[in-house]
Amino acid sequence: MIYLDYNATTPVDEQVLQTMLPYFSEKFGNAASSTHLLGAQAKDAVEIARHHVANTIHCEAQEIIFTSGSTEAINHAIKGVFQLYQHKGKHIVTVKTEHKAVIDTCKYLEKKCATITYLNVDKDGLIDLDELDKAISHETILVCVMYANNETGVVQDIKKIAQITHQKNSIFFCDATQAIGKMPINVQADGIDLMCLSAHKMYGPKGIGALFVRRKNPRVALEPLLHGGGHERGWRSGTLNVPAIVGLGKACDIIGENKFIEKLRDELEDALLAHYQDKININGKHAIRLANTSNITFPFKAVDLIRQTKSLLSIATGSACTSAENTPSHVLTAMGLSREQAEKSIRFSLGKYTTETEIQTVLTLIKQAF
Ligand code: PLP
Repeated sequence: MIYLDYNATTPVDEQVLQTMLPYFSEKFGNAASSTHLLGAQAKDAVEIARHHVANTIHCEAQEIIFTSGSTEAINHAIKGVFQLYQHKGKHIVTVKTEHKAVIDTCKYLEKKCATITYLNVDKDGLIDLDELDKAISHETILVCVMYANNETGVVQDIKKIAQITHQKNSIFFCDATQAIGKMPINVQADGIDLMCLSAHKMYGPKGIGALFVRRKNPRVALEPLLHGGGHERGWRSGTLNVPAIVGLGKACDIIGENKFIEKLRDELEDALLAHYQDKININGKHAIRLANTSNITFPFKAVDLIRQTKSLLSIATGSACTSAENTPSHVLTAMGLSREQAEKSIRFSLGKYTTETEIQTVLTLIKQAF
């Protein structure tokens, strides 16, 4: 089976797994019950993991809150800001191509009297910075723009977006779920105030992630989403999932180069362009993209290729969250593709276990479909 769906999820790296295993059994302590050795051991492991995550994104360890993944972190960031800052204004700016976790949270807040602006993107999936500037008013409390798109890999100009947001005294939240591990992220240099990440997109376990909350310049406050034992300094109650947190920390610690992934992705695209230049379109091709992602519109239905190659190849039409729904990708339609074109588009997302031979086999399979 050739797996080219790494943006949906990744396998757990062997080193990550081995680091996690003792925390299920012999080191099973509760990190919040650290008056004895087992608890203290768990607490220490959590704090080491927190440092690994913080080092990866260049923040302080106290600025990291562990969550069950990016969906929770996104809900916490957006709802948490809205609850605390709505006396200042009820306006939030986001983008039509955001992940459903952002879009649906914003839609939920619309029912709670929030006003949301959903910015357009151009044909390469990029927002217009002037449009962003005009959209932010004195009522705007939050701007949410993702680092890199999960379907196309298109990377937004995060630094400029943060600058514009701050000029208008608003808070900037960035969904970096797909970017972490695939490109260097520096919340200081980029000026990000709130950011989420998820372990299962970077060779860590599922069900664990983190929310970065800036503590100074400016200090950002949030209402908690979960109330309970006051874990994570009161930001996020609930017994910490120590093995998963240890796994997330290790996954951050071992993030490596991905030049060879980019080479394989380019090889796939170049070979297809060489044969079918006029018949295919690479979505977002003029923008900076993640090195591992290629979203291509073919002259045939994506489901047909997926069905034909099902026993050999794992590929997707788009987001894992919407592949069960029978709707065309909201990301591609926002980029100007028709419903029909969106239905003919496939996302190839490569990872660190992808090989040259696999790419050659994929090319053969695609050629058979033409
Ligand atoms: N944001 C983006 C861009 C994603 O790709 C995903 C996962 O598909 C999420 C958020 C949700 O992440 P999680 O699975 O950790 O809840």
